[in-house]
Amino acid sequence: MIRIKSFLCDTWVEGDGPARSLLNPSTEEAVAEVRSGALDFAGALAHARSVGGPALRAMSFVERGALLKQMADLLNQHRDELLDLSTANNGTTRGDGKFDVDGAIFTLATYGRLADTLGNGRLFVEGEGERVGSGARYVGLHVRAPRPGVAVHINAFNFPAWGTFEKLAPALLAGMPVVTKPATATALVAFRMVELVVNAGILPRGTLSFVGGSPGDLLDQLGGMDCLAFTGSADTAAMIRSGKAFTHRSARVNIEADSLNAAVLAPDAGPGTNGWDTFLTAVSRDITQKTGQKCTAVRRVIVPEERLDEVREALIDRLSKVVVGNPAEKGVTMGPVATAEQLRSVRAGIEALSAEARVLCGGGGAVQGQGAPDGKGYFVAPTLLEAQPGARLVHNLEVFGPCATLIPYSGDAGEAACLIAAGEGSLVSAVYGDDRDWLSTFVGGAAAYNGRLVIGSEKVADPQGMQPGMVLPNLIHGGPGRAGGGEELGGARGLDFYLQRSALQGDSALLKKLVGV
Ligand code: NAP
Repeated sequence: MIRIKSFLCDTWVEGDGPARSLLNPSTEEAVAEVRSGALDFAGALAHARSVGGPALRAMSFVERGALLKQMADLLNQHRDELLDLSTANNGTTRGDGKFDVDGAIFTLATYGRLADTLGNGRLFVEGEGERVGSGARYVGLHVRAPRPGVAVHINAFNFPAWGTFEKLAPALLAGMPVVTKPATATALVAFRMVELVVNAGILPRGTLSFVGGSPGDLLDQLGGMDCLAFTGSADTAAMIRSGKAFTHRSARVNIEADSLNAAVLAPDAGPGTNGWDTFLTAVSRDITQKTGQKCTAVRRVIVPEERLDEVREALIDRLSKVVVGNPAEKGVTMGPVATAEQLRSVRAGIEALSAEARVLCGGGGAVQGQGAPDGKGYFVAPTLLEAQPGARLVHNLEVFGPCATLIPYSGDAGEAACLIAAGEGSLVSAVYGDDRDWLSTFVGGAAAYNGRLVIGSEKVADPQGMQPGMVLPNLIHGGPGRAGGGEELGGARGLDFYLQRSALQGDSALLKKLVGV
């Protein structure tokens, strides 16, 4: 049995509590175990601040970027092993595992390359400076410096690999040591990746710590120079935000939480257009990819009334071809949800939605997964619902599984934007169409409600191409309102969270010398 440990103060340690098993969600067999309790988080944070922080801050952006590239290369060499662990502990098909593991490697490599454009300095200098006195000599110069604290990262169960490294890459590049904690139920892949990095001796001492199991009093120990980047449910986020570290000591916090992402079919994207095919492929793939457990997965499918019959028929046809089961078996195209708790939550969510929407296919009933032991595994059928007029819950309840709801609208761009807005803040929405006036009205109304808006116009529409659910390291990830109000990635923008902006005021020539301009 694999024992998941914590890596604190550059040492692998284990808690003293009872062992908790991590399960294979297809078979319910234990694949690893972890013990929480009695870990010295205060000591671990102090070590990271005093040993890891100075080591990173002594390096230039280019040198830190080289560490990211080495990590990307190393993890790529172990890709097959990591994909197997992902199937075992996350229930992912090979393609779904790649989405997580390759996403982690790609993000590390992208930030490694980005470092080469940031130069050999240790500070970001913003512009030429502002004249603040009556003469030209007295100026203000804004600089951004790494915060001399620790970046704590807490991740959700659905992306143990990508979640860990999409946060780690900008933090290390900015010059902050990282303490990372995956969700316990699916921690195996993240644990192995950190173990590989640690064993390879890539990072300076104190720069990477790992928490296996419960975070205990970790967050209570954060101080004003520390940061927390959290991904998870809105309920946990709300509790975390109220912690004294954030309310009294101004530790920084970035939240990525729930999101009711949408796909909108514009009236001109009818059958026969690329937009139509791309829309159908994107929606059906989003419902089933990672068994719908993507923060960016489409939950609301907004369709002109006149196209509703055709869309309904086409999506039911595609979803009926999905083979649900143990992804270790050949021919299975969608695995289970990750945990028994998720299964309960998805079933309850489908039942709640069905009070205002009719189930077109799937539903919350029991499913015997292909290749899974009888009655075992956390399987759900891909589920499509259709909202009744005036349905509200579909804009408020995120069912974190293979489930989406059709919502008819008149075809008016303003109405489509209002439906997007009813979700009160999303990570990403996509629109498929080509009518510029229509799109302009729609984008004007919908952009502020989304962290990212994908315009699937004819020239870039490609059913096999880039999908809205794919988070790209050079574009921001995060969303307003319900989605947590956070912002991650976005190329160099992703470093801002880990940097402190400071205005230097004084003699222009001296300031420029000091900051190396
Ligand atoms: P969760 O139950 O809120 O857990 C998230 C993380 O918080 C886990 O690592 C969990 O650790 C930890 N945690 C729980 N209680 C804590 C506490 N008191 N102090 C500190 N950490 C604590 O969420 P989940 O079920 O893993 O994830 C599903 C949710 O994440 C969905 O709502 C989804 O929308 C959201 N999500 C959002 C994004 C995004 O980028 N916006 C991405 C992925 C997922 P334990 O596992 O040890 O309890």
